[in-house]
Amino acid sequence: MSAAAKNGSLGVYVSVPFCRAKCSFCNFASGVGNDAAVAAYVEKLTAEIRSARADAERMGVVLPDAVDTVYFGGGTPSLLLPEQMRAIFAALRESFSLASGAEMTLEAAPGQIDDALLESVMRDGVQRVSLGVQSFVDRESSAVGRTHTAAECFAEFEHLRNAGIANVGVDLIAGLPHQTAASWRQTLDALAASRVQHASVYMLEIDEDSRLGQEVLRGGERFHAPHVTSDELATELYEQACEALPAMGYTQYEISNFAQAGFESRHNRKYWQRAPYFGFGLDAHSMLLRGDGAALRFANTDELASYGFGSRTRPEIVDEDAAFEESIFLGLRLREGVNVAALREAFGARADALRLAVQEMCEAGWMVERDGCWTLTLQGRVISNEVFGRLLEPVEV
Ligand code: SF4
Repeated sequence: MSAAAKNGSLGVYVSVPFCRAKCSFCNFASGVGNDAAVAAYVEKLTAEIRSARADAERMGVVLPDAVDTVYFGGGTPSLLLPEQMRAIFAALRESFSLASGAEMTLEAAPGQIDDALLESVMRDGVQRVSLGVQSFVDRESSAVGRTHTAAECFAEFEHLRNAGIANVGVDLIAGLPHQTAASWRQTLDALAASRVQHASVYMLEIDEDSRLGQEVLRGGERFHAPHVTSDELATELYEQACEALPAMGYTQYEISNFAQAGFESRHNRKYWQRAPYFGFGLDAHSMLLRGDGAALRFANTDELASYGFGSRTRPEIVDEDAAFEESIFLGLRLREGVNVAALREAFGARADALRLAVQEMCEAGWMVERDGCWTLTLQGRVISNEVFGRLLEPVEV
């Protein structure tokens, strides 16, 4: 880890913000779009990708030569037509050199990956598919507006395996309406039976940005809001996953992410390791490095109507204080944690000033110092935001 993040290779994120139906819990910038809206979006997206080099130059950014991860998220990018995906790949190849063996991921919904699309993206290098399953209990997934059943998920796993996709991930959510410890166990058992390589386990977020969140906050009855689990139960479900998944062969390599050996997401690791990534499309975020080593962060608008040229936020320089904080709260998300010697080399006295706070966290059972690294314990992972807040309270340097 260094004050300036690593600049060896680049990750690229491409946002495709269209879905067949909007899930009630979803707080992403995504929605249902008609064919014309999708086609118009792809036009703007490919233009944005083609202007990447010129944009980088204007910002004084040094783009790494090779792209070694590409992630198509959203949204449900598997709903695009094969020719639309080919146009996006063509734009990517015009602007970037895609490394051979680059990790390329396509997000998809079970039952919504057409054979022609799959064949096309695989020819372009996609070898990883991430499926939004959320729950293997049909009552729970239908309550939040998912359109698939558990049986359809298993049919999709088979479909992908037969097509030659050997790296499949699923997203699951703890805290959904109607969930219980027993039904969550059913979901975890189904995960084990699925033989997929990767699982992300998130806690349901209750906020104003989703219809379910709004309904819970106003005490309403729509969207099964009264049946959302308590915070305590959601926490227990998360802990249950942290304990059960390693026994099923999935190592927890990040607060929300579990993988079989060799199947960690290389793209997502870049976010936590502060390595550069360039995002394109609606609500896509970027972190790039300038020639002087300073990191720049910027993002695209999350309003579809205003997406296009000039809809990016002004790039902000990540100053030394912010870089230090990012190194702590992103590094601690990872299983290997924060390397203390590297932190000291990058930030000097700032790192030493954390010692007392770390000691308190260790005494509370939330962190441990092992092999020269600070890491979170299971208890610490459960309340990670509180731990980050306490660690980063202003300290005398
Ligand atoms: S959760 Fe995924 S599939 Fe559902 S609306 Fe949001 S982006 Fe679309």
